[in-house]
Amino acid sequence: MLSIWERNEFIKYDHVIIGSGIVGLTTAYFIKKKYPTKSVLVLERGLLPTGASTKNAGFACMGSLTEILDDLKIASEEEVLELFLLRKKGLERLQSILGKEKIGYQSNGSYELIFENEMPALEKIEYCNQLLRNEIKQDAFKLNNAKMQEFGFNGVTAMVENLCEGEIDTGLMMKNLIHLVSSMGVEIKTGCEVLSFNETSNQVEIICNNPVLNSELIFKANKLFICTNAFAKKLLPQANVTPGRGQVLITKPIPHLKFKGIFHFEEGYYYFREYKGCVLFGGGRNIDKQTEETTEFNLNQVIQQSLIEKLQTIILPNQDFEIDLQWTGIMAFGPTKKPIIAPYSENVWVGVRMGGMGVAIGSEVGYILSEMIDLNDK
Ligand SMILES: Cc1cc2nc3c(=O)[nH]c(=O)nc-3n(C[C@H](O)[C@H](O)[C@H](O)COP(=O)(O)OP(=O)(O)OC[C@H]3O[C@@H](n4cnc5c(N)ncnc54)[C@H](O)[C@@H]3O)c2cc1C
Repeated sequence: MLSIWERNEFIKYDHVIIGSGIVGLTTAYFIKKKYPTKSVLVLERGLLPTGASTKNAGFACMGSLTEILDDLKIASEEEVLELFLLRKKGLERLQSILGKEKIGYQSNGSYELIFENEMPALEKIEYCNQLLRNEIKQDAFKLNNAKMQEFGFNGVTAMVENLCEGEIDTGLMMKNLIHLVSSMGVEIKTGCEVLSFNETSNQVEIICNNPVLNSELIFKANKLFICTNAFAKKLLPQANVTPGRGQVLITKPIPHLKFKGIFHFEEGYYYFREYKGCVLFGGGRNIDKQTEETTEFNLNQVIQQSLIEKLQTIILPNQDFEIDLQWTGIMAFGPTKKPIIAPYSENVWVGVRMGGMGVAIGSEVGYILSEMIDLNDK
């Protein structure tokens, strides 16, 4: 039941985007930038964005040595290169939208810890550098054992420096992205869960839950963009998307912490970084993969405990620490690492399945989606 005022002013938009993660917000940004007179609405089910974009580790990363070698086992060199370039372009685009300061970009170094059983990977450093050199005009990887002692890690046999990665402040980036699109006139409605959508010949109805009135609210749009990543199956049951939960923790500040920068190990399954004098550590999905294929945000005590053990034995040996926070975020995976960026129908587009690299590729995906709108029907 709508009032005349609501029906006239609150319901009809040119473009509606579902999901206010990095993909939804950058899609809104590029559409509004290109077509400033068009009305753009973002619908978000959570009071805050509630998926991966405010829950991740903030690595501006393009792939570690062992991750790239692992990818090459199932994908061709061309495919691996294509994904690397998507990450590179995405990070450049994110910086061009907000600037380095507003995403808290820093390059304090990026390193991969190599354990005894992974030593053969070092022989492939030159091969990987060759593969990527044409695109980045420099070496991507360099053996750097000198810093290993300085950082104080235990049980690590070698360390590879990644020369083209950095780190961002995820919270700052998302907050500034929300401010930016709002200042451009994009409307964002939070606490607005989309239940389904219907298409007629020239418009799309977007059916939302309206809990206060215990009813449904139907928005109308000329074009709809579905940017719900791991939650895509709710609206698109056929989508080939499997959720993958990521467990994260952060310590309280550690006096005289010996390292800065971002670190990966075990093909990118584990990652840690320094953040404001604390250690943020996440990963371990590989030790309980099936349980982690969920869209529920619960902590997995087995994985959280294994993170604490790795902190004690590898990252902060002989050092006392306290855990400040533990949390989870939900990623989206599929049979390949390629995201789904595609038209669903004449007036509906989909940008989902960002894997563990949506910080890197998300803005490029937003750009590609905005470019898919028919130019004759802006
Ligand atoms: C622990 C962790 C660490 C990570 N580390 C990194 C990293 O270091 N580097 C990197 O590049 N990537 C990383 N990622 C991946 C990256 O965070 C994601 O790929 C990226 O944030 C996905 O963005 P998105 O906008 O596609 O999805 P999301 O951020 O998940 O946004 C989707 C939004 O849609 C909303 N939504 C869903 N269904 C509905 C509905 N029916 N109605 C309305 N709204 C809905 C959700 O609430 C959510 O806010 C990490 C992810 C996690 C979880």
